[in-house]
Amino acid sequence: MTRFISIVSGKGGTGKTTITIELAIALRKKGYNVAIIDSNLETPNISIHLGNPMLEYTLNDVLEGKKRINDVTYKHPTGIYIVPSSITLESEKKPEILQDVIFTLEGLFDFVLIDSPSGIEKAKYSIISSDETIIITNPELPSVIEAMKMIKLTKELGVKVAGTIINKVRMDETEMLIDNIEEMINSDILGIIPEDDTIKKAFKFRSSASYLYPESDISKSINKIVNQIINNKRIR
Ligand code: ADP
Ligand code: MG
Repeated sequence: MTRFISIVSGKGGTGKTTITIELAIALRKKGYNVAIIDSNLETPNISIHLGNPMLEYTLNDVLEGKKRINDVTYKHPTGIYIVPSSITLESEKKPEILQDVIFTLEGLFDFVLIDSPSGIEKAKYSIISSDETIIITNPELPSVIEAMKMIKLTKELGVKVAGTIINKVRMDETEMLIDNIEEMINSDILGIIPEDDTIKKAFKFRSSASYLYPESDISKSINKIVNQIINNKRIR
């Protein structure tokens, strides 16, 4: 049985792509079979983050009916599988069939994590292609308000909210208090991730902090979140 989880936030730059990769690699290290789908059809980033920007075939070819999803599923040296989107502008985008394509992976992986685009209209296609969403927010009001919208949208689409991750936390006086965020979003907090340059160092090597720096604070907080995800039962 596969758990399909989309990683969403209303705002760009909150850390969706980064956290999708971190969670995937941390789950892999615990022995799970994991795939990441890059559903950012306009501004893909998974293949750029993981060092393979110019792949011959991508999810866009699958959406255009030219390839099957297993033809565009690539194994990364960390052991996770990635389904990248095309970074070129030429291809026709057909997000409305994303759901059918993604659900063909049922049974092939333990977890399929869907890295989503920002913005409600685009994220909708990723959300309906999953059973659960993980919401990413930063400890600032505009980001929390967008997270609230994503939680509402998830529920309206009949998908479960697995919980919220508060990312880039510095614990200084300019930030919102975690308790206030929790009260506003009214969903479980899956975990808190510090703002930490280890993330950027790992990106420089086209990898993840969980893989390169397992003893870092970032890796420890990712691991706690992963344990919670594993302990939450699948809902479909
Ligand atoms: P999104 O996919 O939501 O647009 P990204 O994952 O691309 O966001 O992250 C945006 C930027 O923030 C990137 O430069 C990334 O390295 C950085 N970033 C994300 N999370 C953290 C963190 N916990 N600490 C420091 N930098 C972070
Ligand atoms: Mg992104």
